[in-house]
Amino acid sequence: MLNDLFAVWFPRCCWNCNQPLAKGQEWLCLGCCGQLPKTYFEHQENNPLQIMLRQHLPLESAYAPYYFLQNTPIQALLHALKYQGKIKIGEWLAVQCESFISKEHKMLQCDGIVPVPLHQKRERKRGYNQVTPFGRFWANRLGVPYLDNILQRNIATQTLVRMSRDARWTEVKNAFSVQTKNKFKHLLLVDDVITTGATLTACGNALLHGTTEKISVLGMAYAQNILP
Ligand SMILES: [Zn+2]
Repeated sequence: MLNDLFAVWFPRCCWNCNQPLAKGQEWLCLGCCGQLPKTYFEHQENNPLQIMLRQHLPLESAYAPYYFLQNTPIQALLHALKYQGKIKIGEWLAVQCESFISKEHKMLQCDGIVPVPLHQKRERKRGYNQVTPFGRFWANRLGVPYLDNILQRNIATQTLVRMSRDARWTEVKNAFSVQTKNKFKHLLLVDDVITTGATLTACGNALLHGTTEKISVLGMAYAQNILP
């Protein structure tokens, strides 16, 4: 009752098109939800993201539920998550992702979740790592530790957003070091938008150097072919 009154006074709106949200809808209205660009990678044994990442990283499996496409609701959501403090969106995306994949998915057979770290300075400035709620959701679901302190970003790399493919590789190659002596069998690296995979490759290779036997990758979205 109180919630209903609250909804009349302060209607919740769709983050993409600003229409009031119906009961049960979160962040996006039904129409915008339907426009989220799904990858359907869950139906492909060897999906394009996996093929792209395997060129540089010997990984077990890779998955992202959505493509990152300009002018689609995923762009609005990820922008709000990253720059407007709407970290709960990460959890919502994890719930959507969970509804697409089977519990037997290879990447879920892991013994720890590792978020791609921000440099401490940037995290302090933003106040949070945007991957945290997404990653923690999976750690809770799978009953495995959330290992947000085993990878350290050594160099405050310039923001990668406007860099070309080649520049990204050089920038991140030695940017990460491992801060644990613990050994794992299979770690799942989580990230927000996967573009060239340069950052994930650097993280993954650092971890495969004696910390874990296998690596898998899970992103919220895959930005295919958006760089020069
Ligand atoms: Zn909408």
